[in-house]
Amino acid sequence: MPKVLVFEDDEKRFKLLQAGADAAELIRFEPLEDDRETYEHLLREVQSNKYSLLALDLDLSKYTVGVVRRETIRGVASDHYMPLCAYSANSSITAAGSREHAVRPLTLAPGEFGGANQIILDGTKSEKEVGRTISQLATGFESVANIVTEDRVRRGRLLHQILQTPSVAERRVEQYIWGTPAVSAFSGAEADSLKRMVTSVGYWVVNCLLPFPGALLDEVAAAVYLKVGASTFSAGRSHLETAEYQGPFRSLGTYWWRDLLDDLVAEGGHDNGIEFFRGKDLDVERAVCVKCDQVAEFVSFVTGDSLCRTHAVPLRIWLPAGADLVRAEEDEAEHLEFWI
Ligand SMILES: [Zn+2]
Repeated sequence: MPKVLVFEDDEKRFKLLQAGADAAELIRFEPLEDDRETYEHLLREVQSNKYSLLALDLDLSKYTVGVVRRETIRGVASDHYMPLCAYSANSSITAAGSREHAVRPLTLAPGEFGGANQIILDGTKSEKEVGRTISQLATGFESVANIVTEDRVRRGRLLHQILQTPSVAERRVEQYIWGTPAVSAFSGAEADSLKRMVTSVGYWVVNCLLPFPGALLDEVAAAVYLKVGASTFSAGRSHLETAEYQGPFRSLGTYWWRDLLDDLVAEGGHDNGIEFFRGKDLDVERAVCVKCDQVAEFVSFVTGDSLCRTHAVPLRIWLPAGADLVRAEEDEAEHLEFWI
């Protein structure tokens, strides 16, 4: 089981996080006598290779030792290429909506989604759910590390090996690398540091690839892409198993390779998802926009609702080039742009 070093000043909350963490062992950081000893202890722990992830409470005001502050911990994490996730009980930190993704990258500055040096967790979730997500992230980083350190990995195809990208989906995944130099640097060249590679790739998968439907589709996006409503999709999703994403961080949610969904539909001789599900003897309800009854074609990044062409506007924030199913409703888009 991977280990996570947790910076949490409230023991009760730590116990709750621990109760939710079913896939990793959470260990609480204990400050020592004074600042200097504590800082050295912190460095030793971070450099020890014991941990797959650091988890940071954004409010550490109950710690009496001054050095245990989020700025210090972020600095140490980034100096040593240690993956870091941050959480807060304060829901205003991730206030902009309710899109159901375990990790919401909304608090990152534009352009940071792919290259960010942290993962921000959804502050609207309970401690147990946060604990669970932390443990799933640790598992993800651990599995990236396992693949990266295997000798059989061929340089240049590293990302696709990590993700287990089906060959039909490679081009679309590569669109998510553009503009994220921390990751594109590894796609061809020999890596200078395995640790740095593991951390950068993990951040990229969680902050850039999974939350923006395009190459990989979550439940809402997959239903919209296949042109069916949520109830048809959940009744028929077992027929899509072979298209499911099996790479690192898969426990954060179910994702399907869009290009493999295309293959499934085409293999059955169908033109679209509606025909595909009809072919499975399902009563098919069509995907419709939440604002009107037109056919839904996009997913709102803010609310996770399905939107038609009229009600969906492009977001003027940095998005991965391949994220062509992501839109927002007009008023949400304005809010989001203001907020970011
Ligand atoms: Zn509409």
